[in-house]
Parts: sequence; C-alpha cells; structure tokens
Amino acid sequence: MNKVMLLYPPGKLYQRGEDRAQCNIEDSTASSVHACNDLGYAASILRARGYEVFLRDYQTERKVFSDVERDLRAFCPDLVFLSTTNATIYDDLCFVRQVRGIVNCKIVLKGAIFFDAKLERLQSLDFSLTDCTIGGEVEFVIAPVVDCLLRSEGKLSEIPGIVYFDETGAHKTVFSCETPNLDTLPFPARDLMNNALYVRPDTGAPMATISVARGCPSHCIYCLTPHITGRNVRYRSTENIFEELMECYYKFGIRDFFFKADTFTLNKPWAIALCERIIHSPLHGKIAFTANGRADTLSTELLQKMKDAGCFMLAIGFESGSDGSLNKMKKGTSVQKNLEAAAMIKAAGIPLFGFFMIGFPWETEEDLQQTFAHIRRIDPDFVELHVAMPFYDTELYDLCRDAGTLSGGSFGFDYVTPNTTGTAFVSMQRLLELKGRFLLQFYTRPRYLIAKAGECIREPRALIHYFVYGMRLLRHTLHKK
Ligand code: SF4
Repeated sequence: MNKVMLLYPPGKLYQRGEDRAQCNIEDSTASSVHACNDLGYAASILRARGYEVFLRDYQTERKVFSDVERDLRAFCPDLVFLSTTNATIYDDLCFVRQVRGIVNCKIVLKGAIFFDAKLERLQSLDFSLTDCTIGGEVEFVIAPVVDCLLRSEGKLSEIPGIVYFDETGAHKTVFSCETPNLDTLPFPARDLMNNALYVRPDTGAPMATISVARGCPSHCIYCLTPHITGRNVRYRSTENIFEELMECYYKFGIRDFFFKADTFTLNKPWAIALCERIIHSPLHGKIAFTANGRADTLSTELLQKMKDAGCFMLAIGFESGSDGSLNKMKKGTSVQKNLEAAAMIKAAGIPLFGFFMIGFPWETEEDLQQTFAHIRRIDPDFVELHVAMPFYDTELYDLCRDAGTLSGGSFGFDYVTPNTTGTAFVSMQRLLELKGRFLLQFYTRPRYLIAKAGECIREPRALIHYFVYGMRLLRHTLHKK
C-alpha cells in the first residue's frame, strides 16, 4: 500500500489552511490558529482510495525538524504533501530539501500562491525537488495527482489547477474556480487531526473549522478570494453541514466551531436556514460558533437567529474609518454602514471582532487617524489591525507598484511586515509605530480591562487566554518602541 504523509512544517504559526489571507498568527494581536482542514480533507480522500495516510501539524504542535525526521524514518512515505503560504514559501522549500535528504519520495505542495501563477514568477523559486504544486481547491485535485504520481494512473497534464515539473521544465494546466457541488466532499479526517490544538481564543476549548461556503462576489482590491475561489459563491446544504456538526459533537466531543465562508452573512436565507437547523436540533444550546461577515450584509433577523443558534463572535472586515479609502479599496461599504453594522451586532448581544487595515498607498497620516478614531467609535471586543499586503495578482499590487511603494515581490511577506515601503506619505517605520501605539492604547483602556475582568469572573478559563494574548500584544508593541 502506498504511503502519503500530509503535514504543516515546523516554524512560525501561519493560517496555512486559509488561502485568502494566510495570516501570520504569531505576530497578530487576537487571532488563533484554525484547524488544518486542507490536510484533513486530503487525508480523508486519499484514505478512501486505499492509501496509508499520516497527518501531522508540526507547526502548531511547536515541533522541530528532528521530530519530522523521526516520523519520516518510521513511516517511510512514498509522497509528502505540505501546505505552504506566500510568507513561508522560501522556508518551506528549504524544508523540502531537508525531507528529500532523508527519504526519496514525491513532493506535492499546495497553496494560494500557485493559483494560476505566472510561470516566470515561479521560476524565481527552487522547485527542483518538487513534483507538483496545487493552486486550486485541493479537495478536487489531490486524488488524481497522487494516483498519477504513485500509481501511474492518468496524466498530470490533464489535471486542472496544477503546475507540474519534469525534465523539460514547469508546466501549468487549466485553472478555474468552478468546482463541483461542495456536498460531494467527505468530511475532514478529524480522527487523524490533533483537534485539541485548534482552540477558541477566549476559552481555549477545541474549535473545529467547518467549511460552509466558498467564493465572494465583491471586488476588494487587496483580497485574493475573488481570484482563487471565484465570485460565484458555492454553498453546502444546511443538512450536509449539520451532519458534520453532529459528527464533530458526538464522535470527537467538539462543541465550538468556526463556520468558514468568505462571507457567512452574504446569503441571509441560507444562513438563517442553517441557524434554524441548529435551533431545532438536539445540538441547540450545546454548541457555539463564530463566523465572518460584511458590514453591508446584516439584518436584525439574521443576527438574532445567529445569536439564538449559538454565535459567540462575529468578525467583520470594517477595514477603514475613511470613506475615501473604503471607496478606493472597492470595499462597497461606508463609515456609516460600519457604524450601523456594529450597533446591530451589539444590539443582538453578539461579541464583535473587528478587522481593520492601514497602509494603502494613497493614505496620509490623517487617514490613519480617522481609522483609529473609527475603531474607538465602533469599540469592538477584539481588534486586528493589519498593514495592507500587496499579494501578487491583486489590484493593490499594481497600485503599489505604480505609486512607487512596492519594496519587492510578495513572496516571504505578510500582513504584519508587507513588501511595501509604507504609503506614498507615511513610512513603514511610522506606520508600524502608529499601529503599535494604537493597539496598546486600545487594549489597555481601563473600561476595556474592567469589562474583560468581568468576563473572566463569569468564565474563569478566559483569564489564562486573555493573559497570553496580552503578553503577545506587549511583546509586539513594546519592543518596537
Ligand atoms: S468581502 Fe472583500 S475582503 Fe471579504 S472575501 Fe470578499 S473580496 Fe475578500
């Protein structure tokens, strides 16, 4: 039986399973690492096809290469599959070299950076020990790729969404976001995943990621989603999602969930139907979930249903406190809509996680101050403030290049330290200084600290987690002063 090893390499914590932002978790303020569903789906699919599968997230387990080496020697894989990101690609290719120094196996890499990427761009990277990269939705591609590499079934040239390498060079096949019905997928192989690693940031309880929908019709200039998962939104049926919830709850004892969709609140009837399915089920009152939304997609009815179904947090990408910036980034929202959305979420009694961005090429220090004032006015329970990151193939990349703020290619960079020199008017050093100062002020407001202390009295488990996040914030802000 052929053996396949699926892994996240050791190193800094990144949201490797989420192609959209591939967040740097370690240097963020309030984010936690999500489950390795990309590995879990691949494991489930390959196991059903008769492969022996080994899955491990060395990154989140805080393991080092000697741990990988031990597993490689014990398992002796025929193929190693790893998930990479824009920021970690150089380190991950070094990791591939180390792996190949131990076992002579096939290597397959998966990541958003490979989605319909220009071959000239990929040639700046060393793929001499890599057989194939997957840039599309891995669940629909992994089986034919592995069948071809290990069983000599089919041809790589006929599998969509990949780049493969042979003695004649790199070859790209056809890329498309039109993947079939999401209900046809199996559930991730959670029996192979270390579910205790992925937790709710406030309580530390295990939190499973349930991929509920893919795609977004919006045009935000910095976002990879419209490029990689498409503008045509595909939803799983509420029944199919509910079956996965039941499996998580009864088989794995998981009670907390991240409903992963590019915008969960986009399709109100579908989101309400899912909430009602939970409300009228034996899981009602026993599970809780978090999700992402957009400021202009909410309604009182939807938020109330989400609250009743167990929503413990809603994350909104508010992005900016300047209407000029929101327009230029094609967000499709406004400062007023942001304020109304925040008020509706609070009225529904749902804690709010606000995402904001600074550092767009046109922004002045006044724009940044408007965003900081807007955050204070919205007053979310948690804030993540990113610096605009021009990924390849986004409109933002072209704008930064034209504005002269691009400091180089995107590989190796992320939202914490992007590949720009700052904006046309504010240096990167000043941006980071203002960001750090703002976050420190925001999270140390006496009113905020008193509110969080109250939560810790009601939920003592939160104390240790808030302490850890507080230490992380201090580490990131104080040492930059
Ligand atoms: S709303 Fe904008 S940021 Fe959010 S997923 Fe869609 S395109 Fe990306």
